[in-house]
Amino acid sequence: MTSPTAATRLIALLGDPVAHSLSPRFQNAAIRAAGLDARYLALRCDAADLDGLLRGIARARGAGNVTVPHKQRTVPLLDEVTPAVAHTGACNTFWGEGDAIHGDNTDVAGFAAAARSLIGAPGGARVLLLGAGGAARAALYALLEDGVGRVDVLNRTRERAAALRHAFDPEGDRVRVVEDRGALRHEDVDLVVNATSLGLHADDAVPLDLDAVNRIGAALDLVYGEHETRWIREARARGVPAADGLEMLIRQGAAAFERWFGRPAPLQAMRDAVPRSGRPRAAAEPGSSG
Ligand code: NAP
Repeated sequence: MTSPTAATRLIALLGDPVAHSLSPRFQNAAIRAAGLDARYLALRCDAADLDGLLRGIARARGAGNVTVPHKQRTVPLLDEVTPAVAHTGACNTFWGEGDAIHGDNTDVAGFAAAARSLIGAPGGARVLLLGAGGAARAALYALLEDGVGRVDVLNRTRERAAALRHAFDPEGDRVRVVEDRGALRHEDVDLVVNATSLGLHADDAVPLDLDAVNRIGAALDLVYGEHETRWIREARARGVPAADGLEMLIRQGAAAFERWFGRPAPLQAMRDAVPRSGRPRAAAEPGSSG
């Protein structure tokens, strides 16, 4: 990579914390592979500084990502939003066009790509979604847009699952709230998604006992970290195809890269830049998509 010049574009990650983010590693690898004159930097940012940084960077030809805890707070600061932002109420990617600041939530595209890599097109599929926070919201929107047949939402706090259903499928029957965990024992699902934060810490309980469901086609854990999660290892040991959140992380980053630079992201260079089994590992940023 050549030294920065006055023409170099700043692509910034705004969040708190950002110190352990993997994004600088794989985004700078992508920038290098594409031969672009840009640098991706992680900037720890307080809520009070968010508006100024976002606006200043976008107006100076820059762009970036937003991560925990600012994804929702960013939305009212944007001039133009994609349907993904409008439907999820969260933004993780911004860029400038003229004087306007645009925002997308590429967690939606990232989730859709990761889910497709496990089960193919989810048209008509039956999905069990664990969790009802921000990641579950992005996953549910992506699944519904992709033509999923039915999504059962199971969350520790039932009211949040009911609110999610109400937001996305108030009248229909494509989204249901799991009222009785025991009834899952008779169910077959094509995909189980862990969108809870369980698995971030080594001593966490698994998000769902795999025996709790009659048949599971595949398991997608949105959690990622230094090692693959116990839940994913247990699923694989039973012959269930499974992936952790690293592929979603890369795919949301690839979708962001395409927004910033208007060209396809060099996916393999991005994957090669982050640690995975059999290769040197580094600490991942917990609890964030950045
Ligand atoms: P969030 O909005 O804080 O939601 C957390 C969810 O986890 C809620 O449903 C919460 O249930 C549940 N939960 C937390 N502790 C629990 C426990 N002890 N037992 C059962 N359920 C528990 O967080 P988020 O933004 O949705 O993120 C969730 C996970 O997704 C995080 O690990 C994050 O790293 C990951 N993620 C990954 C990517 C990626 O690119 N791979 C992108 C986004 C997020 P209650 O409603 O009952 O509190």
